[in-house]
Amino acid sequence: MRETIHIIGAGIAGLSAGCYARMNGYRTRIFEMHSLPGGLCTAWTRNGYTIDGCIHWLVGSSPKNRFYRMWEEVGAVPIQPIFDHDVFVRIEGESGQTLTLYTDIDRLHAHLTDLAPEDCDLLGEWTRGLRRLARLDLPIERPPELAGPIGKLGTALRFLPHVGVFRRWAGTTVQQFAEDLDNPFLREAFPLAFDLPDFPMIAMMMTLAWMHNRASGYPIGGSLPFARAIEARYLELGGEIEYGARVEEILVEENRAVGVRTADGTEHRANRVISAADGHATIFELLGGRYCDETIRDYYDHLPIFPPLLFVGLGVNRTFEDFPDAVSGISFPLPDPVTIDGRPVTRLSVQASTFDPSLAPSGKTALKVAIPSSFERWAALRARSDEYAAEKEAVAGGVIRGLEQRFPGLSEDVEMIDVATPATWHRYTGNWRGSFEGWLPTPRTLRLRMSKTLPGLYDFYMVGQWVQPGGGLPPAGMSARHVLQMICREDNKRFNADTRTA
Ligand SMILES: Cc1cc2nc3c(=O)[nH]c(=O)nc-3n(C[C@H](O)[C@H](O)[C@H](O)COP(=O)(O)OP(=O)(O)OC[C@H]3O[C@@H](n4cnc5c(N)ncnc54)[C@H](O)[C@@H]3O)c2cc1C
Repeated sequence: MRETIHIIGAGIAGLSAGCYARMNGYRTRIFEMHSLPGGLCTAWTRNGYTIDGCIHWLVGSSPKNRFYRMWEEVGAVPIQPIFDHDVFVRIEGESGQTLTLYTDIDRLHAHLTDLAPEDCDLLGEWTRGLRRLARLDLPIERPPELAGPIGKLGTALRFLPHVGVFRRWAGTTVQQFAEDLDNPFLREAFPLAFDLPDFPMIAMMMTLAWMHNRASGYPIGGSLPFARAIEARYLELGGEIEYGARVEEILVEENRAVGVRTADGTEHRANRVISAADGHATIFELLGGRYCDETIRDYYDHLPIFPPLLFVGLGVNRTFEDFPDAVSGISFPLPDPVTIDGRPVTRLSVQASTFDPSLAPSGKTALKVAIPSSFERWAALRARSDEYAAEKEAVAGGVIRGLEQRFPGLSEDVEMIDVATPATWHRYTGNWRGSFEGWLPTPRTLRLRMSKTLPGLYDFYMVGQWVQPGGGLPPAGMSARHVLQMICREDNKRFNADTRTA
């Protein structure tokens, strides 16, 4: 058996790949350029506050969803208590009306038809779709690459009862749905729930259906303990990790990946290499663009990506009685627009740590405001350190002035300010153009099946958010599981995901 595998990156995909490789008897070493596990799934502390940089919802947070089993296999659950939000987001309008996206479908339906009785037919059809999706339980554990005719038939049969809902909603975006609503407030407020261009309605509906099932909650303690739990599982299984080890080249001989070269010049030989690092850097830098075809080039030239974020963390010395625990976030209008990132901003969304007391000292609150931004602008600013610092300060000032309009007196209570920019995400994780979740899902990209190997290159695999449009933690873990299943098949081994064995 060709038994050594080197893995680039200790994000959730890399750690998961390491766990599954160890469960199947491969010797593994993960090379991570940072000093911490988690990649994008991270958090940082400032003056006693924790700024959580990732998890809002974790699909598979309860056994009612199939992803739970995967999280169990890699040791991520059950570790942290789970908090399930009653409200996905509250969107406040200028006229004083509020759209509350309850996670309970019956409550949501009653609220929506109350707000917009003239749209009750369309809203009824939509919530019926949600109920149908709440019963969807597709077998995700088997890699599509290995599915034979019987496997494909089994999947198709399970899918059959849901075909109608997919046919109705898979080609529609959230914005298109809103345009069909007659109620002016709902037409304006609805798209703000997923304020991303061409966001597929089916993806929004799946998210709400999972939350309705109480299977997509928030792990108390947040993202870093989640990543640490998978790291602990990997180490317990006997895996090795080298931190502070940036891979600069994937070594190739006769079109086979044979190891990696780290920034200190050392060559590390292995039988196989898995890249769980950024897709663009892997293909065009670590492999010099030698194993790439038109399809892959087209993805990176044309597909939309999740925009990079300006991410403002604030520590405030007060509680928020008007921000009930069960509300994940509030989006509110700014009667006096503020300038942020060089442009006028008329609405902000904020999240408060009210549901996770571990993120702020007692009697205090950690707030987060995320604003889509431009990678080019912040990469250029970063090269001029004085301007960069001044612009970050201006961003924080704009956000605080905006929050003050919704929460009068708040600016007096701010005692910690932290601003991460698109350049920060890029520096910290290497993700292409600072993207926070890889390929943006659209009705078109959701149908794409991306390859986890590269044309002409053997013994090499890719896992993580760049091999599955939509990104997120579950595809990061599942793509790793799938690749190890593929490797076991190549080696004529029975894939093992037994959580007790190494
Ligand atoms: C603000 C925010 C909120 C989010 N909210 C959610 C959410 O609620 N739910 C959800 O499911 N997902 C969420 N996500 C998305 C989720 O965090 C990512 O999709 C997921 O963590 C990607 O994991 P990954 O392992 O594929 O990639 P990454 O996390 O990017 O990991 C790649 C790793 O590779 C390392 N690396 C890169 N290049 C090299 C190199 N050359 N040498 C060595 N190491 C290298 C990096 O340092 C990093 O550790 C959110 C992300 C952000 C930023």
